[in-house]
Amino acid sequence: MAKKNKNEKRVSNIPQKQSEVGEKIVVYKPNMTVLDLANALAKPVAQVIMKLVGAGIMANQTQVIDRETCELIAMDYGYELQDEVITDAARFDEIVIDDDESSLVPRPPVVTIMGHVDHGKTTLLDTIRNSRVALGEAGGITQHIGAYQINNDGFLITFIDTPGHAAFSQMRARGASITDIVVLVVAADDGVMPQTEEAIEHAKAAKCPIIVAVNKIDKPSANPDRVMEELSHYNLIPEAWGGDTIFVPISALKGTGVKDLLENIQLLAEMKELKANPNRLAMGTVIEAGLDKNRGPYATFLVQNGTLKVGDAVVCGETFAKVRTMEDDRHVRYNEAHPSEAVMITGLDSVPLAGDKFMVFSSEQEAKAIANERKLRNKAKELEEAKPKNIDDLFNTIDNKHKELNIIIKADAQGSAEALKGSLQKIDVPDVTLNIIRCSVGTITDDDINLADGSNALIIGFNVRPMPNVKASAAAKKIQIRLYRIIYDVLNDIEAALKGMLDPVYEEEVTGFAEIRETFKISKVGTIAGCYVTEGYITNTALIRLLREGVVVYEGKLATLRRFKDDVKEVKQGYECGVSIDGFNDIKVGDVIEASIMKEVKN
Ligand code: GDP
Repeated sequence: MAKKNKNEKRVSNIPQKQSEVGEKIVVYKPNMTVLDLANALAKPVAQVIMKLVGAGIMANQTQVIDRETCELIAMDYGYELQDEVITDAARFDEIVIDDDESSLVPRPPVVTIMGHVDHGKTTLLDTIRNSRVALGEAGGITQHIGAYQINNDGFLITFIDTPGHAAFSQMRARGASITDIVVLVVAADDGVMPQTEEAIEHAKAAKCPIIVAVNKIDKPSANPDRVMEELSHYNLIPEAWGGDTIFVPISALKGTGVKDLLENIQLLAEMKELKANPNRLAMGTVIEAGLDKNRGPYATFLVQNGTLKVGDAVVCGETFAKVRTMEDDRHVRYNEAHPSEAVMITGLDSVPLAGDKFMVFSSEQEAKAIANERKLRNKAKELEEAKPKNIDDLFNTIDNKHKELNIIIKADAQGSAEALKGSLQKIDVPDVTLNIIRCSVGTITDDDINLADGSNALIIGFNVRPMPNVKASAAAKKIQIRLYRIIYDVLNDIEAALKGMLDPVYEEEVTGFAEIRETFKISKVGTIAGCYVTEGYITNTALIRLLREGVVVYEGKLATLRRFKDDVKEVKQGYECGVSIDGFNDIKVGDVIEASIMKEVKN
C-alpha cells in the first residue's frame, strides 16, 4: 500500500471558469469530428474535407480528427484553436486534469500483459502474483478483481489481471487509457504470431512503451534470437542491437528472469516519471464490474488521480455509489486508495461498465444529480442514434438557406445509369443542389456504402439488388438505399423528397417512466404491478420496455392500465397506477417501465 495521505483537504476536479470565446476562436473538444470542426468554423463540410485531403488526410465527415489536425485546419481559415474548459460536471469523464507540478507525487506504473494465446500471459501473471510471498508480503487466499499490486523491494507495480488485448482494446474503444507499460509476452519456441502483431499495434496506437518478455526459455526448442530478429521488423529492436526496446528472457513457469523483468519495469517507469496528485477527489476507471448475490453490485476502481476514501460519493458511468467497502485482491480492507491502486468497491446503486470513468464529488446530493443527468443524456443520445436517417438528415447545409443532396447511382446498364443521371440533373427545386457523386454500372458494393458514409449520400439502386452483407453494413451505418425499377418513380421520389413531401415516417418518442412498487400475482390474470409514474406520462396504448437495473428485460405492450378499479387512457407523473404487461409476468419490485409512442415525423 502507498503512503497514507494525511492531508484531508482534497480539491474538486471540476473547473469553475468557462473559457472566453471571442471572434476567430474555435473551441477544441476531444473526439471532435470533421463535421464538428466544419460547424465550429461555419464552413461547408465538403470544403473542410477538401482541405484535409490537401493536407494528405483522408477523412470522412464523421471521422474523429486529432487536436493537431484541427489546429492546422483552423489556422488555415485564420482561426485560433483553444481547448475547451469543461465546467459541466455531467461531462466529468472528458475532463483532462492539468495538475500543478508542485502538487504531484510519483505513482506506481500500471502494467498490462499482452501477447499471443498460449505464450504464457496467465502463467506470468500468476508467477508475479505468487512472488509476493517470496518478496516478503503476506500470502493467503486471493480473489480475482481485475488488478493487483506488488511491492518489488519498495517499488510498487500494478498489474492489470486480464491478459490479452481484447480487454485492452475494448477499454481504449471506450476512451479509457489505463496502461502505462505493456509487457509483450512472446514464446521463444513459437515466435511472433498474429496476436503478437495485434498486441504491438494496440500498444503503439495507445502510445504505450513495450517491454518484451521472451518466455519459455526453459524449453529446449527455445530460440530467443529468432524472437528478437522477428520483432526487429516491427521496430522493436533490442538495446544490444542498437535499439531501445528492453528484452527480458524469462521462464514464466519456472520463475527464471521474472525478478529481472520487474526491475526493468521499474526502470522504465522511473524514466517515464509517472505522477499524480493525491490531494484531489479521486478519479479513475472501472476495470471490472459485476453483481454478487450477497454483496450486490461491485466494481474494481483503478484510481488514476486523487485519493478515494470510504464514504466518498462517486459517479461512474451513469451509476451512483457511496463507497461502502474497499478491498484488494487479497481481501485486505482499505480506508483510502491512492493513485494506481485498484480496489474492489461496494455501495454502488447499479452495475457500471468496464471502461467507465469514475469521479468523486464533494456531496452525495451532487453525485446523485450528476448520475441522473448522465442517465437522461445517454438515453436521449441512444434514441438519437437509433433513429434511421431520413432524407432530411442527408441534406448537407451549405449555408442557412442553401442545401445539397449527394446521390450515388448504381444501375444495371450504362444506358439506364446515364438516363437516370440526366433526368435527375433536370430536377429543379429552389435552394437545393443535387450532386451525383457516383454513377456506375453494377450492384451496390461495400465501397458504395463507404463512399455514401463519407459523403452523407443516398444510394439509388436501379434494377440492382445489394447482397445481404452489403445491406447489413448499410443498415449498421444507417445509409439509406432506395431500390427502383422505373425511372419515373425515382424522379418522383427524389423530387418529393427535395420538396419535403415523402410518405410519413414514424419514430419512437419516450413519453415517461414508471417505477414498480408492488406486485400481485392473480391466477388466470398474471402479475399486476402497482407503480408510480416518476416522469412524463404513460398511455394504455404505449409501447413499453421493462428495465431492470438499466437492462431491458422485456419489450412489448401494456395489457391494462388502471387507476383504482377503472381502466384509464393515461396516467401522469406523480400518480399511482396498476398495470399488467401483455404476455409477460416476471415483473419485479424496482423495475422501471419506459413508455413510448410512435410519432409521425416530417420528411
Ligand atoms: P496464455 O494463453 O498466454 O495466458 O498462456 P498460459 O499462461 O495459459 O500458458 C500456456 C501454456 O504454456 C501452459 O501450459 C503453460 O504451463 C505453458 N507455459 C507458460 N509459460 C511457460 C514457460 O515459461 N515454460 C514452459 N515450459 N511452459 C510455459
